[in-house]
This record gives sequence, structure tokens and C-alpha cells, in this order.
Amino acid sequence: MKARLIVSSESPLNFRVSRSTASFETLKYIPGTALLGAFVVAHRKTRDNETEFNRFFLSGEIGFGNLYPANFQTDEFANTELRDNDQPVKPIPNTARSCKRFNGFRFKANESDKERHGVLDSLIDWGLFALSQQKNIEILKAHRNCTYADDQSKCNELLDVFSSFYRRGEEINQIGKSEAKTRLLTRTGISRETGTVQEGILYNREVLNEGQSFWGTVSFSNESLYDIFCDFAEDVAEKGILRVGNNLTRGLGKLGVPQIQKFDIEDSESFKKRADAFNEKLHTKAKAHCVDLPHQFYFPITLQSDAILLDPLLRYQTALDGDYLYRVWDIADAKLVYQNAGQRRVIGWNALFGLPKVAEWAISMGSVFLFGCDGAINDHFYLKLYDIEQKGIGKRRTEGFGKVTIADAFHWEVNEYESTNENP
Ligand SMILES: [Zn+2]
Repeated sequence: MKARLIVSSESPLNFRVSRSTASFETLKYIPGTALLGAFVVAHRKTRDNETEFNRFFLSGEIGFGNLYPANFQTDEFANTELRDNDQPVKPIPNTARSCKRFNGFRFKANESDKERHGVLDSLIDWGLFALSQQKNIEILKAHRNCTYADDQSKCNELLDVFSSFYRRGEEINQIGKSEAKTRLLTRTGISRETGTVQEGILYNREVLNEGQSFWGTVSFSNESLYDIFCDFAEDVAEKGILRVGNNLTRGLGKLGVPQIQKFDIEDSESFKKRADAFNEKLHTKAKAHCVDLPHQFYFPITLQSDAILLDPLLRYQTALDGDYLYRVWDIADAKLVYQNAGQRRVIGWNALFGLPKVAEWAISMGSVFLFGCDGAINDHFYLKLYDIEQKGIGKRRTEGFGKVTIADAFHWEVNEYESTNENP
């Protein structure tokens, strides 16, 4: 079973991106690894129960997801579904594009007096361009310039990459971007000898501001753990010892009491409909652009968190491919036709042992892989895809790595340049 976990930052938070002393940046979300580490330390401090500790943190029965910023408290989003914590917050896929000058989803732009020219997803078109052997340039025309127009003129700025996080309501027209608010803290170094300020040492840390809300999921492979864990989480947060991330001795990292609520996961029938909808949309667009499709079924895999994958020789994979799907998930005849992927070096701290974790390479969140498939498209095939989405991929899944969506509706529903210039 799965549950949502929503928590607020009660002091600034810092999650170092790199161990380099030159780096001051923080990750812009709460990583599952850090959340797990915070609960581990809180458990050690408050409870002397080895059996419970093992079940919570070592048995793999509880999976801690990343927590993404849910900043929809501005007035423009009052009375909208974006304030509704039932809806997930997800990374914006790498294939999203928006106006270079006035970027952003159009939803409620009028109310905030901000100009936002809209967002489109380019996956299907880039996929078709790749499938046309990169000959049909016409397909990509829609991705060159912003077509937003007001009474006087057309914007015509270039479209650019558009990243961060988003939440959508039940209907696609209710969609908004969320990003964590950050600032720089300047700190003095402390002398190890005297315990006072070390002259000449002054450094900056980027932090996520206090007073922000973060949204994520926790999975329980055994439902009996849910109540016990919720009591524990509430208890340690109320005592003020739930601390997350780096620089904890300097007053950073305090979390409020988390709200944890069960939710129903999508069933396999509804999943199948979604996968079919993507495939149909791609086939329809291919026809419109006269692209002959070499496969009968297409599905994209979109990373909702960083994924750490090893090949059979234990080397880090920098992309998903057909071999991986066959080797791990027994999906034959799937071929990677297009990808928009990034990589990231993952560092971390092992709270269990008080040691740094080995740095690893991950395929970064937001990466998108489009596959074409010729094998039997039957119930068994859909169930395998459903299984990938439910279980996730690669290593360290109980720390939030490897979450994916297959046939994410974002890829065919988000096209605010296609229709009108009305702001919803
Ligand atoms: Zn524009």
C-alpha cells in the first residue's frame, strides 16, 4: 500500500549537491535518502527497539520517496485543485518547452498579473522526427517559436527548456509549476582549537527556505506497519528531533509534524487505458505528418526520480534501453527510438553507519525514453509495464530512487500552444 507524506520545513534545509568545497548549492527538494536518514537518527535517539528498527529501515518493507515542493499558497491558486494535497507533485519532464521570455503554464496567469505564454510537451514530435530517420523537419516546426498572441502582436520568442516541478488537478487545464524557494546563508567558520570564530573563514550555503510544504509518497509492503510508523513519525516530529539534510548542528533541517494518509493506487485497467491513449495519439500524429511507423506499439518511460541502474558487468547505465527491458522485465522486442536523458552524480550520507555513501551515477529525474514494440501486445504485456510502474527500477528504491511513470499523460495532454490564447 502507498501513503502520501506532506511535511513543512520549520527551519532552512540544505542537501549538498556535491562534496566539493567550492559547491554551495542545495538540491531543490527533500531526497528520500535524507528523509530515511532523518527517521533513522530519530529512532536511535528515542527508542530502544532493535526489532522495530530493523523492520522500519533495514528490511525494505518501507520505501521513502523524494518530497517535492508544493508551493501553491499564492493567491492566484486559491480555490483551485492545485492546493489539494491528494494530487501528486512531479518533476516536469525534460521534453517540456516554454517561451524563453514569458515561461510558465497559463493557468491563472491573469489572476496573478503575470505573463505566462504556455507550455508544450515535445516528446511525440521528437519521437516522430527520430522515426522519420530525422528527415521530416516539418514536425519540429511547432517547437521553434512561441505562438502566443495578444491583440496587437504575436510573441515569436524562441521556445526553451522548461524544468522544475508541477501539479495538475483532475482536469488538464488546472496545472501549475512549483519550485522551492531558496536563499543564501553566510556562515563563519569555527576554530577547532578555540571553539570561537575562525578568522578568514566565511562561507555560503544555499538553503531551501523555512515555511514551505513538501509532498511525497511512502510505500509499505506490509500494511501492519502503517499505524506503527505513523505514530513514531508523529512522536519524533512533535519532540522536535526530526531533522533532515546537512548542517544540522547549525540549526538547519527541522521538519514539522508530517501528515501521512493512505491512498488507492491506480488499477491495471486504468493503466492500460492510459498506455493505449498515448499509443493512439502517436499513431494519429504520425498519420498527419505522413511518417511510416516501424512498430505497432509505443510507450514512453518518464523518470519521476533519479534512477541508479547497473548493466550485467556492474557498470552504471546512463540510459534505459531494450536490452534492459528484456533482461530485467522480460519484455522482448522493445526498441529505444528516442531519448531525452540527463545524468547526475549522487552523493549521500549513511545515517545507519555514520559514513559517507559511495558516490554513484544516476539517470536524472525528468529523463524520458520512448520505446517501440513489436512483440505480442496482450494482457501479459500490459501487466509487465504496470509492474514496472508500480515497483520502480534499479537500485536503492527504498530511498526514493527509480520511480517511473509509463505513458505519462503530460506527454500528450500538455500543449497550450495548440488551441487558443485563452488563459484558463
Ligand atoms: Zn512567448
